[in-house]
Amino acid sequence: MSEKTTPSFVLELPLAVGGPEIHQLSVRFEAARQLYNAVLGEALRRLSLLKESREWQKIRTLPPGRDRSRAFSDCARKGGFTDYDLQGYGTRCKNGCWIGEHLDAHAAQRTSTRAFRAAERYLFCSSGKPRFKTKGQGLSSVEGKSNAAGIRWRTDHVEWSGLALPPLFDPRDKDGVQTFALQCRVKYVRIVRKTVGSRKRWFVQLVCSGVPKWKEKNPVGEGTVGLDLGPSTVAVVGDRDASLEQFCPGLRDFEKKVRRLKRAMDRSKRRSNPENFNPDQTVKPGRREWVLTRGYLRLRAKVSDLERRKAAYRKTEHGKLVHRVVSMGTTINTEKLSYKAFQKNFGKSVGNRAPGLFMNLLRRKAERAGGRVLEFSTRETRLSQVCHHCECFEKKPLSRRWHRCECGVGPVQRDLYSAYLARHVRDGALSTESAREGWCAAESLLREAVERVKETASGKVRPASFGF
Ligand SMILES: [Zn+2]
Repeated sequence: MSEKTTPSFVLELPLAVGGPEIHQLSVRFEAARQLYNAVLGEALRRLSLLKESREWQKIRTLPPGRDRSRAFSDCARKGGFTDYDLQGYGTRCKNGCWIGEHLDAHAAQRTSTRAFRAAERYLFCSSGKPRFKTKGQGLSSVEGKSNAAGIRWRTDHVEWSGLALPPLFDPRDKDGVQTFALQCRVKYVRIVRKTVGSRKRWFVQLVCSGVPKWKEKNPVGEGTVGLDLGPSTVAVVGDRDASLEQFCPGLRDFEKKVRRLKRAMDRSKRRSNPENFNPDQTVKPGRREWVLTRGYLRLRAKVSDLERRKAAYRKTEHGKLVHRVVSMGTTINTEKLSYKAFQKNFGKSVGNRAPGLFMNLLRRKAERAGGRVLEFSTRETRLSQVCHHCECFEKKPLSRRWHRCECGVGPVQRDLYSAYLARHVRDGALSTESAREGWCAAESLLREAVERVKETASGKVRPASFGF
């Protein structure tokens, strides 16, 4: 379908809903949750039957390739493990019980597809075994298939099977993003429920066709930029500017707070359920009843609120950084990193910074501004070891933060130097000629960048990775 491949963007607006609407929406979300669980249960059942079947076992022994994939999908079709079949199952479920009175056909189909996709990801090992949605947690969103039926956007409000839900427009709309989005064609509409503080709030997301408006306050630069993304630092070097900064520095505070709250939750759980623990403080095996006190639930709500704020913080930081990079230039040279290995090597707190998400955003914005992100192999270029001047290679431990070479290059901060070299990579290899040419001008830029970090960070904690 072309709808899926054409570009789209989302405009999110809070909904102005009162008691009766909230009640209606909650009932519909509960219906969607139960439908999701029913379809997920059926999908997992069909999947385990499929995996046990002799045919599947036989296909597994085939050599990987197109024939094998085709055999797998044929087998899945026979076992009823397809989006189409499970949508059919979901529709029958819905029509056979109370859910049918509260959920329209399109929302039910989309919810079924969601459950199927979760099971499919599990099959392809790209995520763990999907869990059923509990009543307390619920579903966070329900969406339609098109703007023609089910959940629909009508000029200035949402219509959904007898409900009219007006959104709260942004009266200032400083950058004109809202006005622009409202002029675009709406592909489909999503209703989202979020827990903000201790309250549930409702939002509408309009999935619009096209590309979002580029805010005028975000300038677009020209030329090539070198980028070096480290576990906790980002170095960017452009034609006339260079910068070295921390990558999402505020995340640590969030993590600290979350850890403290989780320890408190653990203590509370142990206090109120002493019979579930062995004398050595380990949990007794088997299924047990847990008493969750009011204090415990309060702590849990605090944790989930912090997690939400943490994600929002990360999103803004990523956005700001992407725009800073794009303002220096739109052709971005960087090393190809495996973000999974990143997390494995540097731990969870680095994974929490979501470098993969950042790169995705950067790629999208760069393309939107008419440029692109060029990734080259770390192994072939070995930028962290090379010296552009004498072309010697030297293995440096990660703890050495400054590049200094016998030929007279340096001392220069390691990340900035890598970013500078990345800028001079052509067709997957470092062009030492071009790097030598630009070095004179760049050296002072890099030094300025380091001075700037020293100034702005004075008084604050500077990470050891900067190397001061
Ligand atoms: Zn050298």
